Amino acid sequence: MGIFAVFGAPKASSVIYYGLHGLQHRGQEGAGIAVFDENGKYLHHKGLGLISEIFNELRLDALEGHIGMGTTQYANADRGGLDNVQPLYFHHKGGDLCIAGDGNLVNGPEIREFLENRGIILHSSTDSELLANLIKKEHSEDRIFNIIRALNMMEGGFAFIIMTRNRIYACRDKYGIKPLCIGKLSDGYVVSSESCAFELIGATFVRDVQPGEVVTIDEKGMRCRDYSQFKRRMMCGMEYIYIARPDSDIDGCNVHAYRMESGRILARECPADADIVVGVPDSSLSAAMGYSQQSGLPYEMGLIKNRYVARTFIQPLQEMRERGVVMKLSAVRSIVNGKRIVLVDDSIVRGTTILKIIKILRNAGAAAVHVRIASPMMTHPCYYGVDTSTKEELLCNGRTLEEACKEIGADSLGYISPEGSRASTFGCSDLCLACFTGEYATDLYKNQQ
Ligand code: SF4
Repeated sequence: MGIFAVFGAPKASSVIYYGLHGLQHRGQEGAGIAVFDENGKYLHHKGLGLISEIFNELRLDALEGHIGMGTTQYANADRGGLDNVQPLYFHHKGGDLCIAGDGNLVNGPEIREFLENRGIILHSSTDSELLANLIKKEHSEDRIFNIIRALNMMEGGFAFIIMTRNRIYACRDKYGIKPLCIGKLSDGYVVSSESCAFELIGATFVRDVQPGEVVTIDEKGMRCRDYSQFKRRMMCGMEYIYIARPDSDIDGCNVHAYRMESGRILARECPADADIVVGVPDSSLSAAMGYSQQSGLPYEMGLIKNRYVARTFIQPLQEMRERGVVMKLSAVRSIVNGKRIVLVDDSIVRGTTILKIIKILRNAGAAAVHVRIASPMMTHPCYYGVDTSTKEELLCNGRTLEEACKEIGADSLGYISPEGSRASTFGCSDLCLACFTGEYATDLYKNQQ
């Protein structure tokens, strides 16, 4: 999910609109924008679909304010529907709150039960609603202490933006699993899941929100507080591998540079006897370039993407994902016909996509398809908000490399090692690779074991 906020811009809703375009790749199921106007009145609009389908000039004009926030959202099987499209708004005697969050709490069910046992009725299945209620149950005069206490009850991978009528709070989990960064825009500030959104609106990157930190932005400027002394740097490896845009910098490492390096390492770890290297558009192109550079094999545009079909990985239903693969990719026959191909992809989750791509290439005359994956074998589910599916659905769950290769119909199959994945950050960040290794950064609770 993409989250974005602005403080101190005359027409906040327009800035958010363009900022969210830069985060559209993080979710295409729904979007919302909320602002406080100069009288402290809350105004919002949200819907299902792409940002360009939900908002137009009239709608943005109706959201007049200098402080605001927005989201681009993806749905999974149990978090769909308009009720779960954020930001969410909460009345409170100490001042109203608006919250949006990316990620997932591993102790969400326990917090839900804790709140419901105290008579609180919850309206959505979002963690933002849990955070709002945890904040509301604290009674300090100074809201930052209520936020800090609430965040300390939460365990998982998350990034939250909390907005009041005169302040923005940007919060990141203490493990540093989810990205969140701050930019400067004229006299104001912007907060975004990814730095690529800053280019679009002419903002300059200031810094990442640090793990276990709350950054407060208001008319006095920017202030920072650690809400936890426990801090790790376990950025989600899938952000670098697949989710984030190549022009984003996360925790000091550029995403394109990461992918190029992972491709070079992959070529060293898993060489192939082939004629050309082809990447699966779009997120695997950088890794394919790296593979080509290291191996000396020419990089070719053997697959073309139809840009107007949503990403298969973040579509909520299996049937939609399968239909999406066939619709979105075509092989370039004149390039692949008769060639032995190294097909570089970023990851294999269920195997749905790669199986169909191999068929597309063979139908276009490919002599051999050697699949090389720029992430390790995915064997475990993610509990931090990336919909990698259940363990049973994963291609590599309970299969050897040879069995997985046979299942997808490739001539050979190779994966980068976890060590190779980590080395691809050039030492900038340690990584969460739990869905590949089963080593989770946080404690797990009974619903995850
Ligand atoms: S388990 Fe995988 S998808 Fe989830 S946060 Fe870790 S690396 Fe990312």
